Amino acid sequence: MKIEDYVLSIPDFPEPGIVFRDVTSILQDADGLHLAVDLMQEKLEGIDFDLVVGPESRGFIFGVPIAYNMHKPFIPVRKEGKLPRETVSVEYELEYGTGVLEIHKDAIKPGQRVVIIDDLMATGGTNQAIINLVESLGATVVKTVFLMELKGLKGRDKLVGYDVESIIAYE
Ligand code: 5GP
Repeated sequence: MKIEDYVLSIPDFPEPGIVFRDVTSILQDADGLHLAVDLMQEKLEGIDFDLVVGPESRGFIFGVPIAYNMHKPFIPVRKEGKLPRETVSVEYELEYGTGVLEIHKDAIKPGQRVVIIDDLMATGGTNQAIINLVESLGATVVKTVFLMELKGLKGRDKLVGYDVESIIAYE
């Protein structure tokens, strides 16, 4: 089966008019989970990097196995107030209003080369916010790998100049 075949598309979720691309339908199949992690990890072959960063919660699902397989650290990005030690934070735009993302200040050192892993790019706002966090700590984002990309939302327009790849693109 191709990776696309594992993704269920749910009409009118979480609200009317939205077609939600469901990651859980991949995860609940052992072959689907293997395929998703392997295909994302392949995009990092030959890339020189120090650590993997992933946002809660679906960035954890794919980021951790890739970091584990490639013997790199995994650094979580979390919503405001969840991380126990000193953080840096960034405000970013949500569909309605704004949100705040945080990362541990001591988790990334200046000059380090960072890979971002997440499940899906919609507007690109989350990725842009994570790039801001990483760069505020003096590190460089060398690549972002998404499992899915919603092309119509033009997330790439926000990420010009960055290396962004996805495994499945929806028009
Ligand atoms: P962005 O900041 O790129 O607009 O939004 C990306 C976030 O929205 C992703 O982390 C993803 O979890 C969530 N998201 C938006 N639409 C979908 C969807 O259709 N399916 C899934 N699985 N996540 C979505």
